[in-house]
Amino acid sequence: MNRSDEYIHQGQRVRLVEIIRQKGISNEAVLNAIGAVPRHLFMEDYLEHRAYDDEALPINAGQTISQPYTVAFQTELLDVKSFDKVLEVGTGSGYQAAVLAEVGARVYSIERQKELYAHLLYFLPSIGYKKVQCFYGDGYKGLPKYGPFDSIIITAGAPSIPEDLLTQLRIGGRLVCPVGDRNVQIMTRVIRLTETDFETKEFGNFLFVPLLKGLN
Ligand code: SAH
Repeated sequence: MNRSDEYIHQGQRVRLVEIIRQKGISNEAVLNAIGAVPRHLFMEDYLEHRAYDDEALPINAGQTISQPYTVAFQTELLDVKSFDKVLEVGTGSGYQAAVLAEVGARVYSIERQKELYAHLLYFLPSIGYKKVQCFYGDGYKGLPKYGPFDSIIITAGAPSIPEDLLTQLRIGGRLVCPVGDRNVQIMTRVIRLTETDFETKEFGNFLFVPLLKGLN
């Protein structure tokens, strides 16, 4: 495989950024990140021609790379500041992790599918995302040793917000999680106001692959 980021891809990304802007994303740092990450490298060759369509696509292990609009939407809700420590649950293709790195986050990302994790370990550094820290584990449990986090993003649909993750959020920190059953999830943002108080707000319907317990 000999793949690179060419002018044609860069041009396709300019178009993708405009589509996402028209759909309502206004945070310029987030739009710049979508314009910077070479999404075609995160999928198999046969899908490359669809890499800059605004849609979710299949990756290995029966999982998906999220739709660029959804990645931008979740990233905007997180309101990441440079050097924020961000936990991602569900590394998948690594695309969302790369977008977080582009907006300046220190990224810690967990994946429960060993095959995906093993690929990410060499793939992300190979395209320049050397500081993203990947972990093989059950995201329901988070990474207690590395917390508290400035923000936490869950990129799979959960029946409810995992309790362990709320405890790993710093006070003032934000967690963004799609919550629902397998048919539909509501994008939910939780802000930790104090040790025990959380403010929850909902942001419309989305569809993700499920957040599963245990390892694979
Ligand atoms: N953020 C990814 C989206 C991947 S889809 C991207 O940008 O491509 C969701 C991912 O969550 C899948 O790879 C799935 O294996 C993973 N996942 C599901 N349940 C999990 C859990 N409990 N812990 C960690 N990862 C999980």
